[in-house]
Amino acid sequence: MSVSSTVADASVCTPLPVLGRDVLVPLVTGGEVTYAALDYAASAPALQRVWDDVAAYAPYYGSVHRGAGYLSQLSTDLFENSRATVAEFLGCREGDQVVFTRSTTDSLNLLAAAVPAGCQVFVFETEHHASLLPWRDAEVTYLNAPRTPQQAIETLERALADRDPYGPALVCVTGASNVTGELWPVKELAAAAHAHGARIVLDAAQLAPHHPVDIAESDVDWVAFSGHKLYAPFGSGVLAGRSDWLTEAEPYLAGGGASRKVARRTDGGVDVEWHTTAARHEAGSPNVIGVYAIASACKALTEAGFDSLVEREQSLVTKVREGLAEVDEVKVLSLFGDDAPRVGVISFVVEGWNSSHFAAALSAEYGIGVRDGLFCAHPLVRTLLGSDPQDPGECGAPEAEPGERSLNAIRVSFGAGT
Ligand code: PLP
Repeated sequence: MSVSSTVADASVCTPLPVLGRDVLVPLVTGGEVTYAALDYAASAPALQRVWDDVAAYAPYYGSVHRGAGYLSQLSTDLFENSRATVAEFLGCREGDQVVFTRSTTDSLNLLAAAVPAGCQVFVFETEHHASLLPWRDAEVTYLNAPRTPQQAIETLERALADRDPYGPALVCVTGASNVTGELWPVKELAAAAHAHGARIVLDAAQLAPHHPVDIAESDVDWVAFSGHKLYAPFGSGVLAGRSDWLTEAEPYLAGGGASRKVARRTDGGVDVEWHTTAARHEAGSPNVIGVYAIASACKALTEAGFDSLVEREQSLVTKVREGLAEVDEVKVLSLFGDDAPRVGVISFVVEGWNSSHFAAALSAEYGIGVRDGLFCAHPLVRTLLGSDPQDPGECGAPEAEPGERSLNAIRVSFGAGT
Protein backbone atom coordinates (compact mmCIF):
# COMPACT_ATOMS: atom_id res chain seq x y z
CA MET A 1 0.00 0.00 0.00
CA SER A 2 1.22 3.48 -0.75
CA VAL A 3 1.33 6.01 2.04
CA SER A 4 0.10 8.64 -0.38
CA SER A 5 -3.41 7.31 -0.19
CA THR A 6 -6.09 8.47 2.20
CA VAL A 7 -4.78 11.46 4.13
CA ALA A 8 -2.97 12.95 1.17
CA ASP A 9 -6.02 12.47 -0.98
CA ALA A 10 -8.02 14.52 1.46
CA SER A 11 -6.35 17.63 -0.04
CA VAL A 12 -6.16 19.52 3.17
CA CYS A 13 -2.76 21.05 2.38
CA THR A 14 -2.14 24.53 3.71
CA PRO A 15 0.70 26.90 2.91
CA LEU A 16 2.62 27.35 6.11
CA PRO A 17 5.40 29.89 5.72
CA VAL A 18 5.66 30.26 9.50
CA LEU A 19 7.12 26.79 9.87
CA GLY A 20 10.48 27.85 8.48
CA ARG A 21 11.40 27.33 4.88
CA ASP A 22 14.67 25.54 5.61
CA VAL A 23 12.79 22.62 6.99
CA LEU A 24 10.60 22.58 3.97
CA VAL A 25 13.24 22.95 1.27
CA PRO A 26 12.83 19.42 -0.04
CA LEU A 27 9.18 20.12 -0.47
CA VAL A 28 9.55 23.34 -2.43
CA THR A 29 8.38 23.12 -5.98
CA GLY A 30 8.57 26.16 -8.22
CA GLY A 31 8.99 28.43 -5.24
CA GLU A 32 5.74 27.30 -3.70
CA VAL A 33 5.83 25.75 -0.27
CA THR A 34 2.99 23.46 0.45
CA TYR A 35 3.04 21.40 3.55
CA ALA A 36 0.05 19.91 5.25
CA ALA A 37 0.75 20.43 8.93
CA LEU A 38 -1.95 18.24 10.36
CA ASP A 39 -0.92 18.25 13.97
CA TYR A 40 -3.25 20.94 15.28
CA ALA A 41 -4.13 18.86 18.32
CA ALA A 42 -0.54 19.26 19.50
CA SER A 43 -0.20 22.95 18.65
CA ALA A 44 -2.31 24.87 16.16
CA PRO A 45 -0.50 27.50 14.09
CA ALA A 46 -1.29 30.95 15.45
CA LEU A 47 -3.74 32.88 13.32
CA GLN A 48 -2.36 35.74 11.25
CA ARG A 49 -4.80 38.04 13.03
CA VAL A 50 -3.18 37.06 16.34
CA TRP A 51 0.34 37.76 15.05
CA ASP A 52 -0.89 41.10 13.71
CA ASP A 53 -2.45 42.06 17.04
CA VAL A 54 0.71 41.10 18.91
CA ALA A 55 2.88 43.06 16.46
CA ALA A 56 0.62 46.09 16.81
CA TYR A 57 0.97 45.89 20.58
CA ALA A 58 4.76 45.46 20.54
CA PRO A 59 5.65 49.20 20.51
CA TYR A 60 3.53 49.75 23.61
CA TYR A 61 4.96 46.81 25.48
CA GLY A 62 5.44 47.48 29.19
CA SER A 63 5.38 45.79 32.56
CA VAL A 64 1.91 45.31 33.98
CA HIS A 65 0.50 46.40 37.34
CA ARG A 66 1.89 49.13 39.52
CA GLY A 67 3.99 50.91 36.88
CA ALA A 68 3.26 54.65 36.82
CA GLY A 69 4.41 55.10 33.24
CA TYR A 70 2.12 55.30 30.25
CA LEU A 71 3.31 52.02 28.72
CA SER A 72 2.82 50.16 31.96
CA GLN A 73 -0.68 51.50 32.33
CA LEU A 74 -1.52 50.65 28.76
CA SER A 75 -0.15 47.13 29.17
CA THR A 76 -2.07 46.72 32.41
CA ASP A 77 -5.27 47.73 30.65
CA LEU A 78 -4.61 45.30 27.81
CA PHE A 79 -3.78 42.54 30.27
CA GLU A 80 -6.91 43.03 32.37
CA ASN A 81 -9.10 43.59 29.31
CA SER A 82 -7.77 40.27 28.02
CA ARG A 83 -9.07 38.67 31.19
CA ALA A 84 -12.49 40.15 30.50
CA THR A 85 -12.35 38.94 26.87
CA VAL A 86 -11.53 35.40 27.96
CA ALA A 87 -14.30 35.49 30.58
CA GLU A 88 -16.74 36.49 27.88
CA PHE A 89 -15.42 33.88 25.46
CA LEU A 90 -15.99 31.18 28.09
CA GLY A 91 -19.39 32.45 29.22
CA CYS A 92 -18.17 32.89 32.78
CA ARG A 93 -20.66 33.43 35.58
CA GLU A 94 -20.70 36.39 37.95
CA GLY A 95 -17.90 35.87 40.45
CA ASP A 96 -15.90 33.40 38.33
CA GLN A 97 -12.17 33.98 38.15
CA VAL A 98 -9.96 33.80 35.08
CA VAL A 99 -6.44 32.85 36.10
CA PHE A 100 -3.69 33.06 33.49
CA THR A 101 -1.32 30.12 33.53
CA ARG A 102 1.26 28.61 31.19
CA SER A 103 -0.94 25.89 29.70
CA THR A 104 -3.72 23.38 30.34
CA THR A 105 -1.24 21.23 32.24
CA ASP A 106 -0.35 24.18 34.43
CA SER A 107 -4.02 25.08 34.95
CA LEU A 108 -4.94 21.56 36.09
CA ASN A 109 -1.90 21.39 38.36
CA LEU A 110 -2.98 24.71 39.85
CA LEU A 111 -6.44 23.33 40.54
CA ALA A 112 -4.93 20.13 41.95
CA ALA A 113 -2.93 22.28 44.36
CA ALA A 114 -6.10 24.16 45.31
CA VAL A 115 -8.49 21.27 46.04
CA PRO A 116 -9.61 21.20 49.67
CA ALA A 117 -8.02 18.73 52.07
CA GLY A 118 -9.57 15.28 51.79
CA CYS A 119 -10.88 15.91 48.28
CA GLN A 120 -11.81 12.81 46.31
CA VAL A 121 -11.00 13.07 42.62
CA PHE A 122 -12.71 11.04 39.89
CA VAL A 123 -11.04 10.77 36.53
CA PHE A 124 -11.53 8.46 33.56
CA GLU A 125 -8.49 6.43 32.57
CA THR A 126 -9.06 7.74 29.06
CA GLU A 127 -7.87 11.24 29.94
CA HIS A 128 -4.80 13.00 28.63
CA HIS A 129 -1.98 12.77 31.17
CA ALA A 130 -2.48 16.45 32.00
CA SER A 131 -5.87 15.53 33.48
CA LEU A 132 -4.89 12.09 34.71
CA LEU A 133 -1.79 12.85 36.71
CA PRO A 134 -1.89 16.12 38.67
CA TRP A 135 -4.03 14.83 41.55
CA ARG A 136 -1.19 13.41 43.58
CA ASP A 137 -2.29 14.77 46.96
CA ALA A 138 -5.92 13.72 46.56
CA GLU A 139 -7.64 10.38 46.84
CA VAL A 140 -8.06 9.49 43.17
CA THR A 141 -10.55 7.05 41.68
CA TYR A 142 -9.67 6.08 38.12
CA LEU A 143 -12.75 5.13 36.13
CA ASN A 144 -12.64 2.48 33.43
CA ALA A 145 -12.90 3.50 29.79
CA PRO A 146 -16.59 3.75 28.83
CA ARG A 147 -17.64 2.54 25.37
CA THR A 148 -20.55 4.95 24.98
CA PRO A 149 -21.26 8.45 26.30
CA GLN A 150 -24.16 6.98 28.28
CA GLN A 151 -21.81 4.45 29.86
CA ALA A 152 -19.55 7.34 30.87
CA ILE A 153 -22.43 8.99 32.72
CA GLU A 154 -23.47 5.74 34.39
CA THR A 155 -19.90 4.88 35.37
CA LEU A 156 -19.47 8.28 36.97
CA GLU A 157 -22.82 8.10 38.73
CA ARG A 158 -21.98 4.70 40.20
CA ALA A 159 -18.60 5.87 41.43
CA LEU A 160 -20.02 9.03 42.97
CA ALA A 161 -22.84 7.15 44.65
CA ASP A 162 -20.23 5.15 46.54
CA ARG A 163 -18.27 8.14 47.74
CA ASP A 164 -18.28 9.83 51.12
CA PRO A 165 -21.15 12.25 50.51
CA TYR A 166 -19.90 14.81 53.02
CA GLY A 167 -16.37 15.35 51.77
CA PRO A 168 -15.33 17.54 48.84
CA ALA A 169 -15.05 15.83 45.47
CA LEU A 170 -13.94 16.80 42.00
CA VAL A 171 -14.53 15.17 38.61
CA CYS A 172 -12.04 15.92 35.86
CA VAL A 173 -13.18 15.27 32.32
CA THR A 174 -12.10 16.15 28.82
CA GLY A 175 -14.45 17.91 26.41
CA ALA A 176 -12.96 16.34 23.28
CA SER A 177 -10.45 13.52 23.21
CA ASN A 178 -6.99 14.31 21.88
CA VAL A 179 -6.85 10.73 20.56
CA THR A 180 -10.23 10.03 19.00
CA GLY A 181 -11.57 13.57 18.71
CA GLU A 182 -14.80 12.30 20.24
CA LEU A 183 -16.93 14.71 22.24
CA TRP A 184 -17.74 13.77 25.81
CA PRO A 185 -21.18 14.38 27.35
CA VAL A 186 -19.95 17.27 29.46
CA LYS A 187 -23.29 18.72 30.47
CA GLU A 188 -24.61 15.35 31.60
CA LEU A 189 -21.42 14.56 33.49
CA ALA A 190 -21.62 17.97 35.18
CA ALA A 191 -25.21 17.24 36.19
CA ALA A 192 -24.17 13.85 37.59
CA ALA A 193 -21.28 15.42 39.50
CA HIS A 194 -23.45 18.13 40.99
CA ALA A 195 -26.24 15.70 41.87
CA HIS A 196 -23.69 13.93 44.09
CA GLY A 197 -22.26 17.11 45.57
CA ALA A 198 -19.06 16.99 43.51
CA ARG A 199 -17.43 19.74 41.46
CA ILE A 200 -16.28 19.26 37.87
CA VAL A 201 -13.41 20.67 35.84
CA LEU A 202 -13.49 20.54 32.06
CA ASP A 203 -10.24 19.94 30.22
CA ALA A 204 -11.10 22.00 27.16
CA ALA A 205 -7.65 21.83 25.53
CA GLN A 206 -9.11 20.08 22.48
CA LEU A 207 -12.67 21.37 22.74
CA ALA A 208 -12.13 25.12 22.90
CA PRO A 209 -10.39 25.39 19.50
CA HIS A 210 -13.32 23.66 17.79
CA HIS A 211 -16.50 24.42 19.72
CA PRO A 212 -17.88 27.21 21.86
CA VAL A 213 -17.25 26.51 25.52
CA ASP A 214 -19.86 27.95 27.83
CA ILE A 215 -19.16 27.47 31.52
CA ALA A 216 -22.57 28.67 32.62
CA GLU A 217 -24.50 26.70 30.04
CA SER A 218 -22.58 23.44 30.49
CA ASP A 219 -22.58 24.09 34.25
CA VAL A 220 -19.01 23.01 34.83
CA ASP A 221 -17.15 24.54 37.74
CA TRP A 222 -13.84 25.17 35.98
CA VAL A 223 -12.46 25.12 32.48
CA ALA A 224 -8.81 24.75 31.49
CA PHE A 225 -7.29 25.34 28.06
CA SER A 226 -4.03 26.28 26.31
CA GLY A 227 -3.33 29.24 24.06
CA HIS A 228 -1.12 27.28 21.69
CA LYS A 229 -3.97 24.95 20.75
CA LEU A 230 -6.37 27.87 20.36
CA TYR A 231 -4.42 29.53 17.52
CA ALA A 232 -2.31 31.72 19.81
CA PRO A 233 1.45 31.28 20.33
CA PHE A 234 2.99 29.08 23.01
CA GLY A 235 3.33 29.92 26.65
CA SER A 236 -0.05 30.89 28.05
CA GLY A 237 -3.12 29.10 29.30
CA VAL A 238 -6.26 29.64 31.32
CA LEU A 239 -8.00 28.23 34.35
CA ALA A 240 -11.41 29.82 34.72
CA GLY A 241 -14.26 29.16 37.08
CA ARG A 242 -15.42 29.23 40.66
CA SER A 243 -13.40 31.44 42.91
CA ASP A 244 -14.02 29.80 46.31
CA TRP A 245 -11.49 26.94 46.18
CA LEU A 246 -9.01 29.19 44.41
CA THR A 247 -9.32 31.94 46.97
CA GLU A 248 -9.13 29.59 49.94
CA ALA A 249 -6.04 27.79 48.61
CA GLU A 250 -2.46 28.76 49.21
CA PRO A 251 -1.03 30.67 46.24
CA TYR A 252 0.16 28.31 43.50
CA LEU A 253 3.37 30.30 43.28
CA ALA A 254 4.55 32.51 46.11
CA GLY A 255 6.01 35.87 45.17
CA GLY A 256 5.38 39.43 44.05
CA GLY A 257 2.05 40.08 42.39
CA ALA A 258 0.31 37.40 44.47
CA SER A 259 0.93 39.24 47.73
CA ARG A 260 -0.95 42.35 48.77
CA LYS A 261 1.06 43.17 51.91
CA VAL A 262 4.27 41.75 53.27
CA ALA A 263 5.72 42.86 56.60
CA ARG A 264 8.51 41.75 58.89
CA ARG A 265 7.31 40.48 62.27
CA THR A 266 8.98 41.38 65.50
CA ASP A 267 9.93 37.70 65.95
CA GLY A 268 11.95 37.95 62.76
CA GLY A 269 9.50 36.20 60.45
CA VAL A 270 7.34 37.61 57.67
CA ASP A 271 3.60 38.17 57.53
CA VAL A 272 1.93 37.96 54.14
CA GLU A 273 -1.51 38.97 53.04
CA TRP A 274 -2.29 37.32 49.72
CA HIS A 275 -4.58 38.66 47.05
CA THR A 276 -8.02 37.08 46.88
CA THR A 277 -8.40 37.69 43.16
CA ALA A 278 -6.85 35.74 40.26
CA ALA A 279 -3.58 37.54 41.04
CA ARG A 280 -3.24 35.19 44.03
CA HIS A 281 -2.10 32.45 41.65
CA GLU A 282 -0.22 34.62 39.17
CA ALA A 283 2.92 35.52 41.10
CA GLY A 284 5.86 36.89 39.13
CA SER A 285 5.84 38.97 35.97
CA PRO A 286 3.10 37.55 33.80
CA ASN A 287 3.31 36.56 30.14
CA VAL A 288 1.52 39.67 28.94
CA ILE A 289 2.07 38.97 25.25
CA GLY A 290 0.84 35.42 25.61
CA VAL A 291 -2.25 36.57 27.45
CA TYR A 292 -2.93 39.31 24.93
CA ALA A 293 -2.53 36.74 22.15
CA ILE A 294 -5.05 34.38 23.78
CA ALA A 295 -7.57 37.20 24.00
CA SER A 296 -6.92 38.06 20.36
CA ALA A 297 -7.53 34.42 19.37
CA CYS A 298 -10.75 34.35 21.40
CA LYS A 299 -11.95 37.47 19.60
CA ALA A 300 -10.95 36.10 16.19
CA LEU A 301 -12.84 32.86 16.79
CA THR A 302 -15.90 34.67 18.07
CA GLU A 303 -15.90 37.00 15.09
CA ALA A 304 -15.36 34.19 12.59
CA GLY A 305 -18.23 32.34 14.26
CA PHE A 306 -17.97 28.76 15.39
CA ASP A 307 -20.79 27.69 13.08
CA SER A 308 -18.74 28.22 9.95
CA LEU A 309 -15.58 26.79 11.55
CA VAL A 310 -17.43 23.67 12.65
CA GLU A 311 -19.04 23.25 9.25
CA ARG A 312 -15.70 23.48 7.45
CA GLU A 313 -13.99 21.20 9.93
CA GLN A 314 -16.73 18.59 9.81
CA SER A 315 -16.47 18.42 6.04
CA LEU A 316 -12.75 17.67 6.47
CA VAL A 317 -13.48 15.08 9.15
CA THR A 318 -15.87 13.33 6.77
CA LYS A 319 -13.41 13.53 3.89
CA VAL A 320 -10.50 12.11 5.87
CA ARG A 321 -12.60 9.40 7.48
CA GLU A 322 -14.08 8.39 4.14
CA GLY A 323 -10.60 8.29 2.64
CA LEU A 324 -9.29 6.16 5.47
CA ALA A 325 -12.31 3.83 5.26
CA GLU A 326 -11.36 2.97 1.68
CA VAL A 327 -8.11 1.40 2.83
CA ASP A 328 -8.60 -2.09 4.22
CA GLU A 329 -5.39 -1.97 6.24
CA VAL A 330 -6.44 1.14 8.15
CA LYS A 331 -8.20 0.92 11.49
CA VAL A 332 -9.50 4.20 12.92
CA LEU A 333 -9.43 4.34 16.71
CA SER A 334 -12.70 5.09 18.41
CA LEU A 335 -14.14 4.71 21.87
CA PHE A 336 -17.74 5.67 21.16
CA GLY A 337 -18.15 4.31 17.63
CA ASP A 338 -18.37 5.67 14.11
CA ASP A 339 -21.39 7.87 14.67
CA ALA A 340 -20.04 9.71 17.69
CA PRO A 341 -19.75 13.46 17.23
CA ARG A 342 -16.10 14.46 17.03
CA VAL A 343 -13.71 17.30 16.33
CA GLY A 344 -10.94 17.27 13.73
CA VAL A 345 -8.73 14.75 15.51
CA ILE A 346 -8.46 11.26 14.00
CA SER A 347 -6.10 8.50 15.08
CA PHE A 348 -5.50 5.29 13.22
CA VAL A 349 -3.16 2.39 12.68
CA VAL A 350 -2.17 0.79 9.41
CA GLU A 351 -1.81 -2.93 9.51
CA GLY A 352 1.67 -4.04 8.59
CA TRP A 353 3.13 -0.61 9.22
CA ASN A 354 5.14 0.70 12.10
CA SER A 355 3.18 3.86 12.94
CA SER A 356 6.36 5.88 13.47
CA HIS A 357 7.70 4.85 10.07
CA PHE A 358 4.36 5.58 8.47
CA ALA A 359 4.26 9.07 10.01
CA ALA A 360 7.87 9.73 8.99
CA ALA A 361 7.10 8.66 5.43
CA LEU A 362 4.05 10.90 5.28
CA SER A 363 6.25 13.84 6.21
CA ALA A 364 9.33 13.06 4.15
CA GLU A 365 7.66 11.77 1.01
CA TYR A 366 4.38 13.61 0.93
CA GLY A 367 4.79 16.74 3.04
CA ILE A 368 2.11 15.73 5.49
CA GLY A 369 2.97 16.37 9.12
CA VAL A 370 1.13 14.08 11.52
CA ARG A 371 1.91 12.70 14.95
CA ASP A 372 2.71 9.18 16.02
CA GLY A 373 2.87 7.60 19.44
CA LEU A 374 0.55 7.29 22.40
CA PHE A 375 -0.36 11.00 22.50
CA CYS A 376 0.14 11.45 26.25
CA ALA A 377 -2.89 9.27 26.81
CA HIS A 378 -1.14 5.92 27.24
CA PRO A 379 -3.93 3.96 28.94
CA LEU A 380 -6.50 5.12 26.36
CA VAL A 381 -4.39 4.36 23.31
CA ARG A 382 -3.42 0.96 24.70
CA THR A 383 -7.09 0.18 25.30
CA LEU A 384 -7.97 1.24 21.77
CA LEU A 385 -5.14 -0.80 20.30
CA GLY A 386 -6.25 -3.82 22.26
CA SER A 387 -3.06 -3.95 24.28
CA ASP A 388 -2.91 -3.97 28.04
CA PRO A 389 -3.78 -0.51 29.46
CA GLN A 390 -1.72 -1.38 32.52
CA ASP A 391 1.38 -2.13 30.50
CA PRO A 392 3.90 0.61 31.30
CA GLY A 393 5.57 0.10 27.85
CA GLU A 394 7.42 2.90 26.13
CA CYS A 395 5.92 5.90 24.44
CA GLY A 396 6.45 5.67 20.70
CA ALA A 397 7.98 2.21 20.93
CA PRO A 398 8.66 0.74 17.52
CA GLU A 399 6.21 -1.96 16.88
CA ALA A 400 5.12 -4.98 15.42
CA GLU A 401 6.09 -7.00 12.46
CA PRO A 402 3.51 -7.03 9.68
CA GLY A 403 0.42 -8.76 10.94
CA GLU A 404 1.21 -8.04 14.57
CA ARG A 405 -0.74 -5.60 16.66
CA SER A 406 0.38 -1.96 16.64
CA LEU A 407 1.84 -0.56 19.81
CA ASN A 408 1.32 3.06 18.88
CA ALA A 409 -0.81 5.04 16.48
CA ILE A 410 -0.86 7.84 13.93
CA ARG A 411 -2.87 10.99 14.54
CA VAL A 412 -4.03 13.55 12.02
CA SER A 413 -5.65 16.73 13.33
CA PHE A 414 -6.75 20.04 11.93
CA GLY A 415 -8.79 23.11 12.75
CA ALA A 416 -9.37 26.73 11.79
CA GLY A 417 -7.15 27.62 8.84
CA THR A 418 -6.99 24.16 7.26
N1 PLP B 1 -5.54 17.99 27.66
C1 PLP B 1 -5.68 17.54 26.42
C2 PLP B 1 -6.97 16.87 26.03
C3 PLP B 1 -4.65 17.71 25.51
O1 PLP B 1 -4.79 17.26 24.26
C4 PLP B 1 -3.45 18.34 25.93
C5 PLP B 1 -2.31 18.48 25.01
O2 PLP B 1 -2.20 17.81 24.03
C6 PLP B 1 -3.38 18.80 27.24
C7 PLP B 1 -4.43 18.61 28.08
C8 PLP B 1 -2.15 19.47 27.73
O3 PLP B 1 -1.98 20.71 27.09
P1 PLP B 1 -0.64 21.52 27.29
O4 PLP B 1 0.45 20.65 26.77
O5 PLP B 1 -0.83 22.74 26.49
O6 PLP B 1 -0.51 21.77 28.74
